[in-house]
Amino acid sequence: MMPRVERKAGDEIVALGRALYDRGITPGRTGNLSVRVGGNVLLTPTGVSLGRLDVEGLSLVSLDGTHLQGGAPTKESALHLALYERFPEVGAVAHGHTTHAVAWSCRTDLDIADALPPLTAYFAMRVGRLPLIGYAPPGDPALAQDLRAVGAKHALLANHGSIASGSTLEAAVDALEEIEETARIALLLNGIQCRSLSADQVSQFAG
Ligand code: ZN
Repeated sequence: MMPRVERKAGDEIVALGRALYDRGITPGRTGNLSVRVGGNVLLTPTGVSLGRLDVEGLSLVSLDGTHLQGGAPTKESALHLALYERFPEVGAVAHGHTTHAVAWSCRTDLDIADALPPLTAYFAMRVGRLPLIGYAPPGDPALAQDLRAVGAKHALLANHGSIASGSTLEAAVDALEEIEETARIALLLNGIQCRSLSADQVSQFAG
């Protein structure tokens, strides 16, 4: 039996995982979600669709990656742990191979310090800076090392997807969806002359 706090976090992972899957945001068995519970992290297990999670199958790991309970953790858990380690205020992490963010991440002309333009106030509010992490295969320790090195709460992963964090799972998922939506808009505007928010307009939302 799971302690009550883990059960609550688990219910939230199952509900938001299903919502992401049902809307086609995380296709197939892609994507993973996690929540900090006490000194450990509860996260989605490897090889399971976000549409078919069950609370007992979720994986509990320590911050150093030791598997404590439940299913085997996703091989991308090191990315999640890098954000929990770096930012004590981060309470949840969402990672996805969402279509438009992946498409945008394959461009060769991205600014590695800030890979998406601040097209809307919502992006500035929920995401802010979005550095690009260079390509490495999923699960490669280099990805987590690079994420630690950039010191940002969200990142675009080249030819792969994006990762977002927040104080709650809802906030992390909101940021993931905002990255996906902004990438979709940026692709729609590709080749069209358009304006982004100015640095002054973005700084209104810096927090
Ligand atoms: Zn991935």
